[in-house]
Amino acid sequence: MYFDPNAVRIPNGHFIDGRLIQENGNTLIVRRPADNAIVAELPIANANTVDQAVQNATQAYETTEWSMGAPRIRARLLRRWADLIEANKVALGQLEAVTSTRPVRDVIEIDIPYAADCIRFFAEFADKLGGEVAATRADHLGMVTSEPYGVVAAIAPWNFPITQAITKIAPALAAGNAVVLKPSEMTPFSALALAELAIEAGIPTGIFNIVQGTGAVTGDLLCRHPMVGKISFTGSTRTGEAIMTASAQSGIKPVTLELGGKSPQLVFSDVPDLDRVARAIAASFLNNAGQVCVAGSRLIVQRSIEAPLLDRIIALTKAIRPGPTWATTTTYSPLISHPHMERIDGIVKRAIAGGASVLTGGGRLSTVDDGAYYQPTILSGVRSESEAVREEIFGPVLTVQSFDDEDDGLALTDHKYGLAAGVYTGNINRALRARRRIQAGTIWVNRYGRSADFIIPTGGYNNSGIGKDLGRQAVEANLRHKSTLIAFDE
Ligand code: NAD
Repeated sequence: MYFDPNAVRIPNGHFIDGRLIQENGNTLIVRRPADNAIVAELPIANANTVDQAVQNATQAYETTEWSMGAPRIRARLLRRWADLIEANKVALGQLEAVTSTRPVRDVIEIDIPYAADCIRFFAEFADKLGGEVAATRADHLGMVTSEPYGVVAAIAPWNFPITQAITKIAPALAAGNAVVLKPSEMTPFSALALAELAIEAGIPTGIFNIVQGTGAVTGDLLCRHPMVGKISFTGSTRTGEAIMTASAQSGIKPVTLELGGKSPQLVFSDVPDLDRVARAIAASFLNNAGQVCVAGSRLIVQRSIEAPLLDRIIALTKAIRPGPTWATTTTYSPLISHPHMERIDGIVKRAIAGGASVLTGGGRLSTVDDGAYYQPTILSGVRSESEAVREEIFGPVLTVQSFDDEDDGLALTDHKYGLAAGVYTGNINRALRARRRIQAGTIWVNRYGRSADFIIPTGGYNNSGIGKDLGRQAVEANLRHKSTLIAFDE
């Protein structure tokens, strides 16, 4: 079953003060990942447009019921927004599918319900926030209250455009801030549809604005704007470094950085069900063609079960159904672009030249159209120092390393990244030892991948970032605390 990708309405422009704004100026071409066709020319916001968006958001923050009214109003409007997103899931799902790597069925059945529930989860906090009364001497009253930052700059990546944007926006809004979002320049359109629905839900104009453009121009201008109070970023570690620099040079803004990963999956020979482990591992590097920050891209397996486990994973890689993102039968995504595919292929080819064995895949997957599809690829015989193990590939590539005893296996998990890790074992003591030893912000035991348990925060150790998305921690991260000490006469 297909829908016509050319019949989908594509909103375009910046979104400021409740409406789409088109401007003459620099633009960039945006392509459909599934067939490389040109979708639209996207405007690149310059300093004036970024300033207009931030000024407008500041004014909305300072004057509307969003931060001035009863907090339950915010909760109600956020819930209404979530309901509208779900009610429009077909149109929104088709827009997201045409303009990103996400197959339409996954968007409608997984991404949109996740986004709507994520907003509902954070809406619950809006009218339940409070502070503390501190223990002080009897003729003083000490209070610790929390306040929004005012305007939060949210910067999102392209791999899951709707859910990544909502993960940034929802806690910031629930905490009472206004948000200016810069979506990825490769997947800029679905955010505009979300903003239109926010207005329909009654969220005051200016509370959620969007500026479009490249990271180097628009993203940098947004991060450096003096009226931005906090930066909430998801993307690569290299961009995270640039954003920390921009923050440091423009008024020391607090940053939340959700960055890259190279997550290990450590499998011990005592696992009770090898088929189940194989399914979890295959899904972890095939979902969205491996373009997932927590992709479990490093398999570290106890030698005695290496062969039977790999046989099972390889069999699962043969069951993928690549196809256009607008076909409901598609289960395997294109890569975001041809340059991204060439980068991945370069890493794979250099690994092979360096002595790695290709157990499956190793090259481009031909499709009818000009989409950038890549074969699920498994590389063994790789060393920890090699580029394929060291660097985030962000594609459907799994490296395999093996070990004999527990200490050696745990030592192989060490990495400059620390976003997530999987541990598979039938021994609870071993699982708990591994949990303590592995340096990562999230450890999954006998399962792999994010769930819709929004209460569980996500975020990285080491080069994978600073701070948390999701959980109570994400609301806290969008608030600052003010201490007040009042002396009074006895
Ligand atoms: P990216 O860093 O290239 O871009 C992310 C966003 O930052 C885009 O909107 C981009 O325009 C903007 N940007 C780029 N340079 C900028 C600058 N100097 N100043 C301000 N903004 C700038 O990342 P990407 O290629 O879009 O996404 C893939 C990366 O994101 C991977 O590394 C992946 O692991 C990571 N990611 C992490 C998480 C997480 O939760 N930790 C989730 C999804 C993706």
